Amino acid sequence: MPDLSPAALPSPITDSADLDPADWPGFRAGAHAALDLMLDHLQTIREQPVWRPTPSSVRAALRAPLPEQPQGLAAVVDQFDRLIRPYATGNLHPRFMGWVHGGGTPVGMVAEMLAGGLNANLGGRDHAPILVERQVIGWMAALFGLPQTAGGLLVTGTSIANLIGVLIARRAALGPTSRASGLGGTRLVAYTSAAAHGCIPRAMDMAGLGTAALRMIPADPAGRIALPALEAAIAADRAAGHRPFLLVGTAGTVDTGAIDDLGAMAALARREALWFHVDGAFGALAAFAPDLRPRLAGIERADSLAFDFHKWGQVPYDAGCILVRDPAHAEAAFAAPAAYLRREVRGLAGGAPWPCDFGPDLSRGFRALKVWFTLKTLGATALGRAIARSCSLAETLAARVDAEPELERMAPVALNIVCFRYRFATDSDARNATLVADLQEAGIAAPSTTVLDGRLAIRAALVNHRTREADIHTLVEAVLRLGRHSASG
Ligand SMILES: *Cc1c(COP(=O)(O)O)cnc(C)c1O
Repeated sequence: MPDLSPAALPSPITDSADLDPADWPGFRAGAHAALDLMLDHLQTIREQPVWRPTPSSVRAALRAPLPEQPQGLAAVVDQFDRLIRPYATGNLHPRFMGWVHGGGTPVGMVAEMLAGGLNANLGGRDHAPILVERQVIGWMAALFGLPQTAGGLLVTGTSIANLIGVLIARRAALGPTSRASGLGGTRLVAYTSAAAHGCIPRAMDMAGLGTAALRMIPADPAGRIALPALEAAIAADRAAGHRPFLLVGTAGTVDTGAIDDLGAMAALARREALWFHVDGAFGALAAFAPDLRPRLAGIERADSLAFDFHKWGQVPYDAGCILVRDPAHAEAAFAAPAAYLRREVRGLAGGAPWPCDFGPDLSRGFRALKVWFTLKTLGATALGRAIARSCSLAETLAARVDAEPELERMAPVALNIVCFRYRFATDSDARNATLVADLQEAGIAAPSTTVLDGRLAIRAALVNHRTREADIHTLVEAVLRLGRHSASG
């Protein structure tokens, strides 16, 4: 090799039109101050209100036009501190119990910063960040009992992971010509429970199959898909000339945390030659907790599995995952043959197979690093303990609700979600909805609401690792006070 050192390749031109700081020491001080600002925020989160409505002055400031001139890091960090930080979602707070939101961790924040600094593109090529993503995928395949040959990708969230699952199943059902010819009039139909997440019908829509091709099978009283009704629906569809191709199970329904009988569904899918996809958005992570893990029995038989790290996994948004038992099916659905054949063996353009051949994205960020840091620094055991604690807090809340004559429990507690409400003599739906909005606006606690059998419920999803037993009692006391006040008003 000739001498290729920079000194041996001189250039007479000097210029500095780049976007890096002109004053590195000043920037460094500003960057450290920004980090300290967020560490203070995280350290004092419990003393802050759960949520604050965004004032109109802030809304106005956030409609200012595109800046032409530089404002300096310190000035913009100050704007962040005044305009954004105080008015965020609130999901870091121990009494945020709305929807199913993760709490994040300080280590996740640090990893986000490091990944941002590295600015790696994980679409493909030969570099260590892709090995980190593969390691994370391998860890999760092992956790769920999938073969070590399983593949997968980190994606924005379970909504997209479910869509990818549907697209892989569609391609597996239709064969290779469908990549060019589309559906060609085939009448593919899929099955899931009426308690499944709304992103499953959306995935059917986006996949061009239509929401009407998704049979929403009723759930039993425990919130699990009713197997006799499922079998009957499959038989009826076959008799009518439809082509059943996909069965979607749920590990942790969004309303009540119910887990379908995944073992029975896997067996049925095998008998009927259906692709078996599991939406385990948050519930699948119960696999980290040894005592909860048996409830997921059958998940190891999934053809594909979607779940989130950003909910119960406490990794900062966004971080979802799709695992595929046989990655050849993902490749068949997504790889562009021309690009694929051009892959090099040597140099930076090596490193095949590339992640971009297994999903819809070409450019991809380094989401895997925050998952890797979270699992390494906390360890799987501590994460499992936090998950188990969410479930024991849910039991505490359910017991508290059951013991209060003024409160009514609305659903069984399968995992970490408790649905209940205040018993009002009249207008119960509207009054409970008002009660929840009052709780949120007072900054005391942030449960959400859902509708179960046509009745509005207060829904407390215990996901945050910072939630303690005292927070459960604070929630109940606040609900009782607001309920009494409303009932007497
Ligand atoms: C949250 C959730 C989803 C959607 O996941 P995102 O990460 O928000 O896209 C899908 N299914 C279930 C059961 C969920 O709880």
